[in-house]
Amino acid sequence: MIKIQTVSITSLSLAELEALCIVMKEPVYRARQILSWVYDKGATTFDQMSNLSKDFRRKLSEKHRVIQTNVDTITQTAHGTEKFLIHLADDNVIESVLLREGKRITACVSTQVGCAMACRFCASGLLGLERNLTTGEIVEQVLHIKNHLLPDEHLTNIVFMGIGEPLANYDNVVKSLRIMNAEWGLGIGARHITISTVGAADGIRRLAQEGIQVNLAISLHAADDMIRSQIIPSNKKIGIKNIIAAAREYFEITRRDISFEYILIDGVNAAKQDAESLVQLLKGIQCNMNVLPLNPVKEFNLKPPSRETIELFCKTLEKHGLVVTVRKKKGDNINAACGQLRLQRHKILWKN
Ligand code: SAH
Repeated sequence: MIKIQTVSITSLSLAELEALCIVMKEPVYRARQILSWVYDKGATTFDQMSNLSKDFRRKLSEKHRVIQTNVDTITQTAHGTEKFLIHLADDNVIESVLLREGKRITACVSTQVGCAMACRFCASGLLGLERNLTTGEIVEQVLHIKNHLLPDEHLTNIVFMGIGEPLANYDNVVKSLRIMNAEWGLGIGARHITISTVGAADGIRRLAQEGIQVNLAISLHAADDMIRSQIIPSNKKIGIKNIIAAAREYFEITRRDISFEYILIDGVNAAKQDAESLVQLLKGIQCNMNVLPLNPVKEFNLKPPSRETIELFCKTLEKHGLVVTVRKKKGDNINAACGQLRLQRHKILWKN
């Protein structure tokens, strides 16, 4: 049974909260006080907001909640990466990741419960799409991570690379972006926020018009439509040409560099010839290439290529002037790569 969800403060913009204060016959400055409790001081209940009158706090609690999710479990690795399993009000679970790389502290967030894209290498798509996350559910993932940091640590970056396709939940994602970016919200600079997409070309074009200069990462994974459609079914409708045209537009309007994600899958997209096609495709586009070997998911019969193949692939790109970063999936050793934790949890629940 799905429980009815009351609106959480984390779903609201400053203007909406100000309007709520007016309706409740309180001065508008109360809105900023409430937001400061939530985003600066980590308050999770109205009771903690000691500079609001008891009466106002009581009235707020009758109809609203500060947050609507809670942390179920946190799994740690040796590299300072921590995986958060977040419990939602309807008993669904999603995952978020805290990544530490020196002073850079990144929150990786999910945007949907499950995913409809069904990419043939990704654990998140195995259970299909259950529903979109609300704005508050997206924002709260960052909040939980921020509240968990040590006193001398500061959250510096946010990446939308968890479960789900962000541009398929466009309105809630864009509103959450504004809250994350706002000075009254989480205060993270737009240039420190990255949206990763399977390549929803219309969504990319719309995002370019929003006036928020977030970074865009496109999960390309192949330079050829035949190969891409084999591993990413949604490509059949979109097509690589269309994605590249949308990426160019995004760059022209926002002046933000584009990143292309490319996972290397043995025997599928990792040959020297594939690297050469990629070079042709990306000619004249100012971009970074993030190459990473596939993190194998048991349910798919795919594996990453050998080290030599990976090196040859990257060298071929670099020889033609592409900026290449080879990434390692930090969550691997705790089953924390994209969607795997949620999948595991689902299996356990299912067995019981
Ligand atoms: N739907 C969005 C964001 C979520 S996935 C997107 O497609 O970009 C974040 C990244 O993890 C994507 O680049 C995705 O292709 C990649 N990914 C998914 N499964 C993976 C796996 N098994 N190994 C390596 N990367 C994977």
